[in-house]
Amino acid sequence: MQMTSAHSETTSRLLEMEDLYSAHNYHPLPVVLSKGEGVYVWDADGKKYYDFLSGYSALNQGHCHPKIIASLVQQAHKLTLTSRAFYNDQFGEYAKFITTYFGYAKLLPMNTGVEAVETAIKLCRRWGYAIKGIPENKARIIVCEGNFHGRTSTVISFSSDPASYTGFGPYMPGFDIIPYNDKEALAKALQNKEVAGFLMEPIQGEAGVVVPDEGYLKTAAQYCKDANVLFIADEIQTGLARTGRMLACDYENVRPDILILGKALSGGTMPVSAVLTDDEIMLTIKPGEHGSTFGGNPLACAVAITALGVIREEHLAENAAIQGEYLRKGISSLNSPFIETVRGKGLLNAIVIRHPDSNAAWNICLELKENGLLAKPTHGDKIRLAPPLTITRAQLDECLEMIADSLLILK
Ligand code: PLP
Repeated sequence: MQMTSAHSETTSRLLEMEDLYSAHNYHPLPVVLSKGEGVYVWDADGKKYYDFLSGYSALNQGHCHPKIIASLVQQAHKLTLTSRAFYNDQFGEYAKFITTYFGYAKLLPMNTGVEAVETAIKLCRRWGYAIKGIPENKARIIVCEGNFHGRTSTVISFSSDPASYTGFGPYMPGFDIIPYNDKEALAKALQNKEVAGFLMEPIQGEAGVVVPDEGYLKTAAQYCKDANVLFIADEIQTGLARTGRMLACDYENVRPDILILGKALSGGTMPVSAVLTDDEIMLTIKPGEHGSTFGGNPLACAVAITALGVIREEHLAENAAIQGEYLRKGISSLNSPFIETVRGKGLLNAIVIRHPDSNAAWNICLELKENGLLAKPTHGDKIRLAPPLTITRAQLDECLEMIADSLLILK
């Protein structure tokens, strides 16, 4: 891979250590970050950048948000972990807060996103047997081609991306993959009476910000309702104001039967995820049948209440909607022959690069880095543009200039 700048001794040493002592399960951009504040990060040599990845949308509130950090520090001094073997004085408050915030009866707290997806799958299957009456071990869940729901062995079992699943079999059965954004395919798959749920992303983030047609979510939810099948929305990436609404499902007034959240639930400070649903579904799981040592820990609860509060107080959904539109228009007006399309909603966007060199997107990201903006290609030719939702128009103007300048390296 091409490196566009020489590194300082410190940076070279840090890059080398990671390469030597860490598993090679990522291919990072060659930049070593040591500080973050709002929309900015700084590398180990003190160079400042705009962060256009936002920790894969975990930093919607911006880096080191002062209120979130204050909550974290304050709670860290008091009580960090009890396990759910005992009650703690934060969990009940948080459960009440988040269920009221999103309008569900119950919360099941987990840590990483994929754990929440696993939890939703278990809840869906359990509901399928206990309430819907599907014969034992027959429950099926419909998922979409191009999905990304995480990295556990169950979840990669229904991935359609060979990079995710190859060499990790045998795979968990019970999933039916249909094309994304295809109502007819869903209607057909729902004819099977053994289907318990439809698990989907309202916008496919990792696939390269694939936005379905208007009306797809509403129709899909209605089809599921008609078939007595749970509509399960993975809003781990699209939720919490990222797409210009609190949830991407809000665009179509769809209320998922099971809602999965993660990432920005802690403002990027620690892994906090959540599964929200109503009693009929949640109470099918009884004491001792599911859990997690860290799920619902008081530190996470205190931080999540503050992180959710910040999203509302700072009107981040509204800002994401306004600035996202401005960003897409700004990129379109560059009229670059190398941009096939720019797409997205709110501040979850991607540009698709059109160029014969398969490294073009990577090379643009290296150039963006030189110019002071960090972004990462996904699936070769797409570059995700997802800054913290606190970004201002003046900052975006500066970023648009950096993007325009960086495109100039393509011939
Ligand atoms: N679901 C979606 C839609 C995601 O985008 C991601 C992560 O990118 C996950 C699940 C997995 O989350 P985590 O990496 O926290 O396990």
